Amino acid sequence: MSNTPNVLALEGLMLVSAWKPIVLLAPWVAWAWFVSTVLDKHAARFHLGRNKWNMTHLSMGTVALLAAFLIPGTSHVAFGIALGVVVLILSADIMIYAMSTNNDERVPEKFKIRFDASTWKQAKEEKALAKRAGKAELQIQTPGGTTVAVPMSDSEEFPVRVAAEAIYMQAKAARASQVDIAPGRDKAYVVSWVVDGVRKVQRQSIPPAEAVRLIDFWKSAAELDLSDRRRPRWADITVSRHELGETVRVSTAGGPAGMRLGMLFDPSGAVRRGVEDLGLTEPQLAELRAITEERRGVVLLGAAADNGRTTTLYTLAKMHDAYTSNVQTLEFEMQSGLEGVRQSVFDPQGEGPEFSTFMRSILRRDPDVVVVAEVPDNATVIEMCKNDHGRTRVYASLKAEGAVRTVATFVKAAGDNELAGNALYGVMSWKLMRRLCQNCKVPYQPSPEMLSKLGLPAAKVKQLFKKGGQVLIKNKPDTCPTCLGSGYFGQIGAFEVYRLGEDERALIRGGDLNGLRTALRKKGLPTIQQVALLRAVEGITSVEEVTRITAPKQNKSSPAVPVA
Ligand SMILES: [Zn+2]
Repeated sequence: MSNTPNVLALEGLMLVSAWKPIVLLAPWVAWAWFVSTVLDKHAARFHLGRNKWNMTHLSMGTVALLAAFLIPGTSHVAFGIALGVVVLILSADIMIYAMSTNNDERVPEKFKIRFDASTWKQAKEEKALAKRAGKAELQIQTPGGTTVAVPMSDSEEFPVRVAAEAIYMQAKAARASQVDIAPGRDKAYVVSWVVDGVRKVQRQSIPPAEAVRLIDFWKSAAELDLSDRRRPRWADITVSRHELGETVRVSTAGGPAGMRLGMLFDPSGAVRRGVEDLGLTEPQLAELRAITEERRGVVLLGAAADNGRTTTLYTLAKMHDAYTSNVQTLEFEMQSGLEGVRQSVFDPQGEGPEFSTFMRSILRRDPDVVVVAEVPDNATVIEMCKNDHGRTRVYASLKAEGAVRTVATFVKAAGDNELAGNALYGVMSWKLMRRLCQNCKVPYQPSPEMLSKLGLPAAKVKQLFKKGGQVLIKNKPDTCPTCLGSGYFGQIGAFEVYRLGEDERALIRGGDLNGLRTALRKKGLPTIQQVALLRAVEGITSVEEVTRITAPKQNKSSPAVPVA
């Protein structure tokens, strides 16, 4: 061995001991395996710029190798440093990938890359526990917080528990927001669920005896009276699978055909939405802000059932500062607590006064804002109209479609054009449509005929999107992991929003609803149909979805009706 610096450097490069390069290469090989088998597939599956990421991995890998063999010295310290640097660079590469892709909305929660060993351990333990308990996998807690015990696997109750869990788990796996068991045709029961606002029948012809046992299981978990098979009742339970716990609202009601059960997942999360996320266009958002600032008179919200009326109502309530003003709600079922807001729940089966009397007593206390979740009768409309409009802003939700029709419904219920016209200061109406899944939507060039039929300018619209449902993984088509093949993911509203001024009130007082329609058009704000088409042009939804929500309603055969 010579002591000249050149030779020393060469020795450093070659790392004289044979085991040293092997130890240095081991993390590199492990890293290369992980990148090529896990990360590359992950990037391809969610369209995360696979080539860009491969270039990043390649550069980081090269830097790690160079660092390993260029760190001079043959001592153990030098070797330790080299090993540390290699592990650091390679871990950094994986961390950078995980951190930037975990923030990408295309990657569903359960496909995010995690390094928390405790969650793995926990999942493993829970799996083992579930195996011991047969097939019961869920932890179910009553409203009081008591865990519902899993029956012995040889007991009669055990299959009921497993079947009841299956209903929940299958619905969750399908991304459903709620699941219902309700009587269908010929006394048999039907399980249906709602995904992105669209109801799908999942199981048909369940014998009544079996269905009732399933319903009773969930009812008893919710501590609801099993002998009460008629009155609408609800309670919140907690269902956990692995470490994730979720509030589930269990509701039941009965009719001549039999009992119904509904399970709404994460009820308060379902109505949590900022005003910017409702789907309003910029001018509509400005109009809505102008409406909320006025703080007087009645503002109508018209939408069909299952169109997120509670979400919009709660969003409006939250646009008013509950600390500087007195904000109240009157609801049939409280879906979420609103901070600082006094929420009253009306029980239609209760002994107390009528809804309209309840309404009157709330208005008499001169609140600044009252949100009425559902106007049940004409008497309530009359109470709202007779109120001193200068003192209180009332938001009232009606089952109606389109701004003018919502006004017409209200005027008819009031039974007096003059009375209704004086009260109204604003109206909004909307329909929910499904968003295209951004991971698998398919672009296409629309034909000139199609564009002219839709009233879209052929010169401007070169591309539209339709639903996909599949992605290519290593050149093989596979079900899209984000939307699970439906082609849609999430919902967005298409709104009409109009402030009603003195001119519009005069038209309503005069019973001139056609005149009102013309006056609203002149405001230059888009209609529901126009917003829906705009979202199609933007690639947020499809033309098929626009047609589905704007086409006149047909009575589709849907055997199961949601509870409440
Ligand atoms: Zn998809």
